[in-house]
Amino acid sequence: MPGRHFLHVPGPTNVPDRILNAMHRPMEDHRSPVFPQLVLPLFDGLKKLFKTTTGQAFIFPATGTGSWEAVLTNTLSLGDTVLASRYGQFSHLWIDLATRHGLNVVVQEEPWGTGASPEHIHAALEADRDHTIRAVMVVQNETATGVTSDVAAVRRAIDAAKHPALLFVDGVSSIGSIDFRMDEWGVDGAITGSQKALMLPAGLGISCFSQKALDAGHGARRNNPLRRVFFDIDDMQKANKDGYFPYTPSLPLLYGLRESLAMLEEEGLENVFARHRFLASGVRAAVLEGWALKLCPQEPKWYSDTVSAVMVPEGFNGADVISRAFKRYNLALGAGLSQMAGKLFRIGHLGDLNELMCLAAITGSEMAMRDVGIKVEPGSGAAAAEEVYRNAEAAATQKAA
Ligand SMILES: *Cc1c(COP(=O)(O)O)cnc(C)c1O
Repeated sequence: MPGRHFLHVPGPTNVPDRILNAMHRPMEDHRSPVFPQLVLPLFDGLKKLFKTTTGQAFIFPATGTGSWEAVLTNTLSLGDTVLASRYGQFSHLWIDLATRHGLNVVVQEEPWGTGASPEHIHAALEADRDHTIRAVMVVQNETATGVTSDVAAVRRAIDAAKHPALLFVDGVSSIGSIDFRMDEWGVDGAITGSQKALMLPAGLGISCFSQKALDAGHGARRNNPLRRVFFDIDDMQKANKDGYFPYTPSLPLLYGLRESLAMLEEEGLENVFARHRFLASGVRAAVLEGWALKLCPQEPKWYSDTVSAVMVPEGFNGADVISRAFKRYNLALGAGLSQMAGKLFRIGHLGDLNELMCLAAITGSEMAMRDVGIKVEPGSGAAAAEEVYRNAEAAATQKAA
């Protein structure tokens, strides 16, 4: 079909032309004397993205899943106990990865549609008098359900229990789009990937380690450390300090990352967060007020600014909406995963986006829903979103005048 494809899954996200152009380069020697001029500033840019001055960022040719593995295997020993909350498919997969690496994962089940419970985490840490729990694992933005957890509150819970556990946070669908503060929140391992807020193709597993996490790794290495070769941060550090990598990096992705970090810095991280919140509030108005449907998150405090999981009414299958939207309207929506399969469809609204792109996703979803028989008022989603988008603009102009 002619015309453009509307990519509204919560990753991969749209790659802006500026980044596509930046990646369009001939290959070059990654051991050349000028290569560090590309590489060294990337680490500084990433530290600003993670909001850390003391942490150390790593770039692996991998994905978010690789970053999960890098953080765990470089800090923990075989059989170590970790505490993890599960409230969606991504928290589930991270727990699965930890278990398969030989960690003893104490899982806190939370209802899907809610997030990490600081109270439950506090209680578990207080009960752990011998401090056997080495780390707490939290997914900041559960992409499967559109739920954002309060990482600062998790940090307060750990501190209130006076527990030395490390705090590991999956920010794959939040870092660079939803507020994240590594130093201020005392995050010891932060995890992201290239294909979401960073607006790049998949292929970079990006993580950031606090000094405490780096030190823990050195302790663990003496005592039956988890095995790693490709993801060994010692090898990375040795090469990275001079602006090189221990093996061949992906040149286009590094050039793309440079452009992505420049774009985020030009817009200003706080403005990027505000734009995501603003666009998300229009999508939420379409779902809740326009269509009178429910979101997966059980309370507004859980609403994600990067993805909205729309519950389809009883008797309908979310997969039919997604299939219709894709085949008929050239619109890609996210599926319901695992226990949410069929119950919802997801509108991703992160990365390189504006109001009219969101309106296309809203209108396309609405037409697909009507096509499969879901009774929503024609035009109601766009009408509700328009009011948010127009009125915020009006308010801003008034303020400026
Ligand atoms: C996308 C995503 C991942 C997995 O990332 P991959 O790049 O597909 O390995 C992990 N966690 C969250 C929260 C995600 O959204």
